[in-house]
Amino acid sequence: MSIEVQKTVKEAQQVRRKDLSFMQKTYIPEIVKGMAVTFKSMLAPKFTRQYPEERFNPQPSYRGRPVLVEDKGHERCVACGLCARVCPALAIEVQASETELEKERYPERFEINMLRCIFCGFCEEACPEEAIVMSDEYELVFQHPEDAIYGKDKLLMSKERLQTRLDFLKKAR
Ligand code: SF4
Ligand code: SF4
Repeated sequence: MSIEVQKTVKEAQQVRRKDLSFMQKTYIPEIVKGMAVTFKSMLAPKFTRQYPEERFNPQPSYRGRPVLVEDKGHERCVACGLCARVCPALAIEVQASETELEKERYPERFEINMLRCIFCGFCEEACPEEAIVMSDEYELVFQHPEDAIYGKDKLLMSKERLQTRLDFLKKAR
């Protein structure tokens, strides 16, 4: 520590000691206040959830694992790649292909590495088609790292199942 800094610290300590009352210097009032908070919390009602017997039902605003919206038997996704572009964790891989459907493009391969995903919701925000949304699912268990790469088989979820989230997004936008 330089002499200048040592001088400043010494001055600050002198001022602080001068400002404190005798009781404050003993820290007793602060300890008593802290103990009061502890005892209050001890007597307050408990909010322990007996999971998994007692399930957690998230609010529509909850950001669970991202999923692809399936509408009338097809994914809404047009494979524009915007979600993959904005994903800060580089968790999304999209491979586009052509389709006879009106949308003309679809994702031949769509994968999310759930070990990388940080549930930020940027993909959902960026998507121009409301094709990728944050679901209410929060239980993710993998035996091997490769099991965490979710393809379309695990990502597709019906529009009806996601209606609450879609309605929430409509209101929020
Ligand atoms: S929620 Fe965030 S981290 Fe996860 S896939 Fe979407 S953009 Fe990537
Ligand atoms: S999910 Fe949305 S943003 Fe991502 S590729 Fe499909 S249409 Fe584009």
